Amino acid sequence: MAKSPETEHPNKAFGWAAKDKSGVLTPFHFSRRDNGDNDVTVKILYCGVCHTDLHTIKNDWGFSYYPVVPGHEIVGIATKVGKNVTKFREGDRVGVGVITGSCQSCESCNQDLENYCPQMSFTYNSIGSDGTKTYGGYSESIVVDQRFVLQFPEGLPSDSGAPLLCAGITVYSPMKYYGMTEPGKHLGVAGLGGLGHVAVKIGKAFGLKVTVISSSPSKEDEAINRLGADSFLVSSDPQKMKAAIGTMDYIIDTVSAVHALFPLLGLLKVNGKLVTLGLPEKPLELPIFPLVLGRKMVGGSDIGGMKETQEMLEFCAKHNITADIELIKMDEINTAMERLAKSDVRYRFVIDVANSLSPP
Ligand code: NAP
Repeated sequence: MAKSPETEHPNKAFGWAAKDKSGVLTPFHFSRRDNGDNDVTVKILYCGVCHTDLHTIKNDWGFSYYPVVPGHEIVGIATKVGKNVTKFREGDRVGVGVITGSCQSCESCNQDLENYCPQMSFTYNSIGSDGTKTYGGYSESIVVDQRFVLQFPEGLPSDSGAPLLCAGITVYSPMKYYGMTEPGKHLGVAGLGGLGHVAVKIGKAFGLKVTVISSSPSKEDEAINRLGADSFLVSSDPQKMKAAIGTMDYIIDTVSAVHALFPLLGLLKVNGKLVTLGLPEKPLELPIFPLVLGRKMVGGSDIGGMKETQEMLEFCAKHNITADIELIKMDEINTAMERLAKSDVRYRFVIDVANSLSPP
């Protein structure tokens, strides 16, 4: 008979989990494996709240595997390191992002693209390399193979730096891969949420002109005056959208819900590139005419490999890029999720795990 989450590993652990698709998170006792020779045990300080956490607790994609302890934007302190661990020492400040395992021998892994390994395991709602279920960062600690642990640069604050571990790398990686970094070019960022607001900051650091394309007129002032965007388009304003047709070189699309690609493709110049990062629960329609007639390209991208994630953290430290956050206590998570569902967050919730998570 399968062991219970509380007894399958030797070390007691505590976090908050969703038990069914209502998505309501409640206290949850489970267990963590012993620290192996290649492992780092991390005492979790902060964990960001990604929209993927919300999609997963609500079973939007149909593959949630309850109970789910979400959380993949983790910053903490290494409290134990295995004897083969060379990159970390006890007491180091470290990060853990979206993936915590891969085969480490396939073509993707050999190219530092663990995120595309067919056997990659996610930090939560997945099966880890030891064959047991993974539980994420809404919890007191986590045990991770050193390959999937990141050095957290000195200049980055732990709380507002945590979202970079998913939101940061998810927008940085496609900008590098698809060649969307040429200074002076025009980047559109669709959806001003957790990913989108970091894309604005990274785009500006690459020297791009950045326009936010948003469904929320109330975000205009902040987009320009706080986040540094050059301009702001309300996607439901037909006149402004029309005036912007054919003006953008690239678009990063972070919208979390089903939406039309046609107006976004229209904003691109000939040879423009649209990278879709959002993961709505239903497929989007792909309009072919604007693609064909303007030699435009639509691509996707999934977080980033470990080497590139480390590079992104160094880049953000160098350019003083962090997330704008609302720091919450663990027991405020259900209200935070309700607000996230309504795009009502400026711009990432981060849980103060170490100061607010305590077993009942
Ligand atoms: P978020 O903070 O909720 O931001 C999403 C934004 O999308 C919202 O702030 C809103 O921006 C816009 N939006 C939401 N519903 C909309 C609707 N019905 N119509 C038009 N716009 C809408 O979410 P996030 O954490 O940035 O994540 C965004 C998406 O990326 C999620 O689907 C998530 O699962 C996915 N994701 C993908 C990866 C990857 O590797 N590809 C990694 C992480 C997350 P405005 O108010 O400005 O319109």
